[in-house]
Amino acid sequence: MSAPIKPRTTRKIRVGTLTLGGDSPIAVQSMTATRTQDLDATRRQIEILEKAGADIIRIAVDSKEDVEALKILRAGSKAMFSVDLQENYRLAPLVAPYVNKIRYNPGHLWHLDKETSIRDKVAFIVQAAREHDLAIRIGVNCGSVDPDYKARYPDDSIESMVQSAADHCQMMDDFGFTNYCVSLKDSDSSKVIEANRRFAGLRPDVPLHLGVTEAGMPPEGIIKTRIAFEQLIPQGIGDTIRVSLTVPDDDKGEEIEVGRSILDDIENGRFRSVPENFLEGLNIIACPSCSRVENGKFVDLAQDVRRMTEYAEKYKITIAVMGCRVNGPGETDDADLGLWCGPAHVNLKKGTESVGAFGYDEILGRLKEELDKLIADRYGA
Ligand code: SF4
Repeated sequence: MSAPIKPRTTRKIRVGTLTLGGDSPIAVQSMTATRTQDLDATRRQIEILEKAGADIIRIAVDSKEDVEALKILRAGSKAMFSVDLQENYRLAPLVAPYVNKIRYNPGHLWHLDKETSIRDKVAFIVQAAREHDLAIRIGVNCGSVDPDYKARYPDDSIESMVQSAADHCQMMDDFGFTNYCVSLKDSDSSKVIEANRRFAGLRPDVPLHLGVTEAGMPPEGIIKTRIAFEQLIPQGIGDTIRVSLTVPDDDKGEEIEVGRSILDDIENGRFRSVPENFLEGLNIIACPSCSRVENGKFVDLAQDVRRMTEYAEKYKITIAVMGCRVNGPGETDDADLGLWCGPAHVNLKKGTESVGAFGYDEILGRLKEELDKLIADRYGA
């Protein structure tokens, strides 16, 4: 018999007609990967996610044209919509009438409108949320932590994430806004576990959105996510989940199906043992893609990278494959080799250094050259 799941202590928040937190069921969510302005493709993906049972569907909005598209999508769907603002906090009042929740990333506020304080920017988002009765997610991501926090905790990347989230919660509290939740995402399951544990210790009242970011392709992406969820949810940590998988657009419903099956297993005490050597060798992390992908070949590229690198499976090397310039440059920094996609070129990095930008038809060859060099330097093979 497995130990009973600890009750969650978070307060309840509202996302449209859905309640998150406390003893409410853990909500399962996903994000569209299509270009938001491609209405047919985005509508189709919303339908796929709804059919799979998504409780919340997140959409990326980066421009006024995206807001126009969102307006049309809103009119055609009753789903709970969340919008991801990333670098565009100023769009908050424009998107607010059409969504139920806004996600902002504290790490994407510092470099915009430098004359406006971060507190004022948060106040601006809160104002839009308040006027339209929305929820907010403070979404901290390992690859884009506010540099002030990185400087404060140079040897503890987890603490920089946790403290950044805690300070943004404090701002919400100061503004008297309580309808918010937090996420602390990393591509490394163990860091997701530690960050969420620490945060839940500090702020047991704040609902948590769990996810392993850039988990990659199935089955590895599913295993990485399962490792984190199996550790956290039985401890009463986690009020909503997202499984991030790099899959073709038509298969996006898999994120919801996998999320539901992990929750069902945890609830029924079925814990999957993870192979002992899992992640001891080659680790490919890849973003789940979204409207910001700058070239439609991204998912194929991620799959090609995985096939091409099979020969290197036994080496402990991390390769990151990211879909755009928003998170690509930062979230490849910790990988041994990183690729992030631009409209016509793929940027190749070795650690934090750029190797160059290469055409989609040359990148695999260049990646192989760098991988071979790395294996030779590190393992003498
Ligand atoms: Fe979207 Fe870019 Fe993040 Fe990939 S890296 S999920 S394309 S924002």
